[in-house]
Amino acid sequence: MSEQAEKEEAAWLESGRLLFARPWTFLRGIAHMTDLPEAGPPEIAFAGRSNVGKSSLINALTGQKGLARTSNTPGRTQELNIFIPEGHSGSASDLPPFAIVDMPGYGFAKAPKAKVDAWTRLVFAYLRGRPTLKRVYVLIDARHGLKANDLGVLDMMDKAAVSYQIVLTKADKIKPPAVARLIDEIGQAIIKRPAAYPTVLATSSEKGSGLGELRAAIALAIANRTR
Ligand code: GDP
Repeated sequence: MSEQAEKEEAAWLESGRLLFARPWTFLRGIAHMTDLPEAGPPEIAFAGRSNVGKSSLINALTGQKGLARTSNTPGRTQELNIFIPEGHSGSASDLPPFAIVDMPGYGFAKAPKAKVDAWTRLVFAYLRGRPTLKRVYVLIDARHGLKANDLGVLDMMDKAAVSYQIVLTKADKIKPPAVARLIDEIGQAIIKRPAAYPTVLATSSEKGSGLGELRAAIALAIANRTR
C-alpha cells in the first residue's frame, strides 16, 4: 500500500472510531409503525437470523456490553429497538449524529405463521417508510452462509429499494481461507441484486476483527458516500 493510501485508510478507520466513541442508550422498542418516532437523525439498521450474533455485534461496535441485551428480554424480540447516543434531546436542533436500529431476529425454526406475518409487516413497513434509513446491515453467520430465509429478507429489501450490505459474523469460527471463499461466494450471489452493496465484510465480535472496518463503512453510509 502506498503511503498516501495508508493515510487514507487510517483516516477512514478513524472516522468510524470517532462516530461510535460515545455512550449509547436504548431509546425505545417499536412494535407497531404508529409507535415509530418521527424521522430524526440518519439511521442504520441490523438484521439477521436469531442467534446470528446481532446483539453481540451491536455491543462490540459501541463498546457497551449490556446495550443490546435490553432488547433481547422476552417479549421484546418482535420489536424494532432503537439506540441513540446519550445526551441528545432528539429535538430538531439537537439530533444525535445517527441512530442504530436493531431489527427483530428472524428464522425461528418453529415460529407460528401469525408471528412471521407480524414480523414481515412491521419490517417491510419500516423499510419502505423510513427516508432517514441509510443502510441495513444483514448479518450472516460465517458457519452457515446465506439461507433461504436470508434470501427472503434480501428480496424484501430489494423490493423496498433500501441499500443493504452483508456482514459475516463469528468469522473466528472458521479458518481465514474459508472466510475468503464465503465472501467470494456471497459476492457472486448478490451481484445482480439491485439494492445490495457489493462488498461483503467479515467480523468477529469475540476477537474484535472487522469492527473498525464496519464502523468506518457505517460512517460513509451515514454521510451518503461510498469508498
Ligand atoms: P442474536 O440472537 O443475533 O442477538 O445473537 P447473540 O449476540 O445473542 O449471539 C448468539 C450466540 O453466538 C451467543 O452464544 C454468542 O456468544 C455467540 N457469538 C456472537 N458473536 C460471536 C463471535 O463473534 N464469535 C463467536 N465465536 N461467537 C459469537
